Amino acid sequence: MIFIPFLIAAFILLLIYVRPGTRACRWRADRARDAEGKSYFRCAACGAEVMSDSGKPPRDCRKP
Ligand SMILES: [Zn+2]
Repeated sequence: MIFIPFLIAAFILLLIYVRPGTRACRWRADRARDAEGKSYFRCAACGAEVMSDSGKPPRDCRKP
């Protein structure tokens, strides 16, 4: 049963990649819609819209 540790490692990697909240979100910046020093981001996957303070897209999905 030498392959069991590999099965466990594969399972853990699967949990990391399929974590809820980080679905197939692809954030796109739209400089034309920036306002008040915040950066506008829109998710190309689910359509969520976010105003980011840091200028970076959110790491989780903001789908309503
Ligand atoms: Zn999304």
